[in-house]
Amino acid sequence: MTRIFNDPADFADEALAGFCDAHSDLVRQVEGGAIRRHRPAAPKVAVITGGGSGHYPAFAGIIGPGFADGAVVGNIFTSPSAQQAYSVAKAVESGAGVVFTYGNYAGDVLNFGMASERLASEGIQAENVLVTDDIASAPGSEAEKRRGIAGDFTVFKVMGAAAEAGLDLASVVRVGRKANSRTRTIGTAFSGCTFPGADRPLFRLPEGHMGLGLGIHGEPGLFDTELPTAVELGTELVRRVLEEAPTEHDGRLAVILNGLGSTKHEELFVLWRTVAPLLRDAGYTLVMPEVGELVTSLDMAGVSLTVTWLDQELEEFWTAPALTPAYRRGSTGFSAAPGVEERPDAVAAAATGYSATEDSRAYAGQCLAALEEAAALLRSAEPMLGGMDAIAGDGDHGRGMVRGSSAALEAARSALASGAGAGSLLTAGGDAWADKAGGTSGVLWGAGLRAFGERLGDEETPTAEVLSGAVRAFADRITGLGKAEIGDKTMVDALLPFVSSFSASVGSGTPVQDAWASAADAAAEAAAATSALRPLKGRARPLAEKSIGTPDPGATSLAMVFAAVGPHFTAVPATV
Ligand code: ADP
Ligand code: MG
Repeated sequence: MTRIFNDPADFADEALAGFCDAHSDLVRQVEGGAIRRHRPAAPKVAVITGGGSGHYPAFAGIIGPGFADGAVVGNIFTSPSAQQAYSVAKAVESGAGVVFTYGNYAGDVLNFGMASERLASEGIQAENVLVTDDIASAPGSEAEKRRGIAGDFTVFKVMGAAAEAGLDLASVVRVGRKANSRTRTIGTAFSGCTFPGADRPLFRLPEGHMGLGLGIHGEPGLFDTELPTAVELGTELVRRVLEEAPTEHDGRLAVILNGLGSTKHEELFVLWRTVAPLLRDAGYTLVMPEVGELVTSLDMAGVSLTVTWLDQELEEFWTAPALTPAYRRGSTGFSAAPGVEERPDAVAAAATGYSATEDSRAYAGQCLAALEEAAALLRSAEPMLGGMDAIAGDGDHGRGMVRGSSAALEAARSALASGAGAGSLLTAGGDAWADKAGGTSGVLWGAGLRAFGERLGDEETPTAEVLSGAVRAFADRITGLGKAEIGDKTMVDALLPFVSSFSASVGSGTPVQDAWASAADAAAEAAAATSALRPLKGRARPLAEKSIGTPDPGATSLAMVFAAVGPHFTAVPATV
């Protein structure tokens, strides 16, 4: 339960602002997140962590000497946008390149990946190190599909220390990937977490049960079992992580026993009393273990055990000093003495001038009406979409779609007021959608809308053929970025049937309104049919079994939106 908040929608932003104020000796808020307040004395690799909010001290809490240079801060449990990642990187980079490091979630991979491309196009080297420590989320044979949970902390820590020691970009990346490949976590959930403003947790477990294989976004555990004693629980966690021990190792382990937000430190210590001797009995030396809250999930009750098999290099970086708001170790020798240069605040983006024909401006009005319709529809569907996403995902799909479509609408309104044509209005809307929605669906919708707008341009009222090409461009961009195929149980399952039906009907001369309406029916039917599928992409994949019987939230929202916007987009000439 969250009791202290104003508007729940502002919770993450307000928490970030308060955090930056409270720790203003070390951090400063910038567009998209937070960075170290002071410039490094010489160029150094910038280690940027990130992800959604709700995991404190991950991720902004570990900014400071010896640890991260910056954190990109998304909304609760929602990937930050590519624009946010780009802007934090621009604020923090000092000439030696940047590395984004984050847990392996589709939305984060897309957004940080897009930011990296943009940085590279400006000559700033940008790399990505994904954390995949959660052994419950995929078998070892598919380790690259595993989620990142509390192992984030170990991987970020060694990368932060490596960058502080002056290693170059390739070496910091190498150290991070090595740490990740030797880090394993298993967790268990006792109760779900509750979004600010929500009146019930994202999931509930039967009394006296726990969910083994927790996620850190309120995803329930992968298997429900009866609540064991502390000794039984500790034994089970140790057994599961040690099953994954590499064949060769030095017998030295970094260990984290992590509380998820509302599990008391005393409970963690009781558990540690079982975990530590078992690890020692297995022949390990425990190096600087951490027992506490390092990667949380709002107010979730739960615990996870992370181990990293150290080698000499990893041990040096794991034990190196750090000075951050939430984590301090040893002495970094850093003091914010007068004369240590501060970073400037971020610079605001320049305003854009538009040139468009009268026809395109008139059609832009229809596009605005389409966005108004979509935003209103999504607002009323928010609880339904969120509930659908909570079954096997993280419950944020409704909120993400509302945030995205509302931001797109606002940007489109101001673009139209500044004289934008249809293409510019929709590209501005797409960029705002991607920036504000967060999440996997947000980046895909935003990029798709941008592609749709680019195809329409600012010159002519689109014909049915142009509209069909624009819808195809929307779909191509989404499949190009997300790599989902029909049957993966994503929005693509509704989108591709729409595209084929629409282009076939337009090709055979069906009036465009009818062509759109029957394509929207095909999309709705295909969205409903995803109910029977197992998700093969996105956050729902590890909980595939739970998802069977519920349609894909992204496919459902896409079908709804496409049906609603049809009449606005299709008020165009049938053919040229
Ligand atoms: P997140 O999964 O990051 O929490 P949302 O909850 O907003 O983002 O969106 C979830 C939806 O995103 C899924 O229901 C699915 O339709 C869609 N999705 C997930 N991964 C992909 C992908 N790779 N390609 C296309 N759509 C995807
Ligand atoms: Mg989601």
